[in-house]
Amino acid sequence: MEEVESREWYLAAYAAEGVPTSDHLKLRTVTLSLSPDSIPEQHVILEILFISVEPYLRSRITGREDGLYSPQFNLDEFVARRIDPNNGIPLPEYISSIAVTGLSRSSNQRVPGFAAWVGIELLADPKPGSNVFISAAAGAVGMCAGQLAKLRGCRVIGSTGSDEKVRLIKEEFGYDDAFNYHTETNFDAALSKYFPNGIDVYLDNVGGEMLEAALNHVNKHAKVPLCGMISGYNKVWTEREGVRNLLNLIGKEVNMQGFMVGSYVHRFGDFATEMESHLKQGKIGYSKLKIFHGIETFLESLGSLFTSSNVGKVVIQVK
Ligand code: NAP
Repeated sequence: MEEVESREWYLAAYAAEGVPTSDHLKLRTVTLSLSPDSIPEQHVILEILFISVEPYLRSRITGREDGLYSPQFNLDEFVARRIDPNNGIPLPEYISSIAVTGLSRSSNQRVPGFAAWVGIELLADPKPGSNVFISAAAGAVGMCAGQLAKLRGCRVIGSTGSDEKVRLIKEEFGYDDAFNYHTETNFDAALSKYFPNGIDVYLDNVGGEMLEAALNHVNKHAKVPLCGMISGYNKVWTEREGVRNLLNLIGKEVNMQGFMVGSYVHRFGDFATEMESHLKQGKIGYSKLKIFHGIETFLESLGSLFTSSNVGKVVIQVK
């Protein structure tokens, strides 16, 4: 009987707040039998080549259901969606731009490119010339969202966490302008400067202070798709920054809408066709990837999502 050693991360303890550490996530080695007799009916054994590391994973290991957007992990949940390796798109880029990734077979499938597409194409649906603001703009969702909005003929401005990322999204991903929120710390003043004609669309990836500032600059009938609020993921909800100016939504008749990509799986085919075509025609550039090597880097790679240290989509190359 053939046996292989396989390493896996397991959740040893929930992490209620802060960036998860080795107290919460631990690596162990298990022995797997590859004998056909040992594989249960309707099960398969997979070899994992790449892992997509995404912010939502954080919200699934808090041990709390309050103030979060994802249910907690249960044991033994997994997904396997087979990707055709002959589709002409390199696997890491596929993970970043198209593939559905996640650990649950339920509706909690996540994908940065799909989230960007749902937020911009389906919910914001901006007209040419619209003023579009995107936070976490150099991340996996942000890079794609900015390019989709540019394809629609919009004026697109992003916020991100380093001067290098500001340069990158302007020079390589077509953003009209961008600012570093660590150095331009008065967000209200920054948005006055970058949006003299107000904001028509704000794709929110960070929440908190940036969302509040953006709501001070929205135009009448603006759209605000709420994709994520990463500034709050390591805090219990009572410690997060409140948004004090929701009254603006009424006077300006703003449409602010949270969304989960899992609710749009019926549109995944449209998205994949459109995105594959954009990628092949060079209308959308492949996202930048931050590739960690080896499964042992999972904890480090997860932690990197909560700093401004990485650029683009975080992926682990397992072998
Ligand atoms: P990502 O942008 O590749 O990585 C996270 C980035 O967020 C970091 O690189 C960092 O970049 C920024 N960040 C971290 N902490 C921050 C803070 N306190 N304040 C402001 N920015 C901070 O991640 P992603 O995969 O593209 O996801 C972006 C957002 O979309 C996340 O909120 C995620 O949860 C959400 N999402 C939602 C769905 C859905 O179905 N609703 C699906 C996928 C993703 P900089 O600081 O350098 O800007």
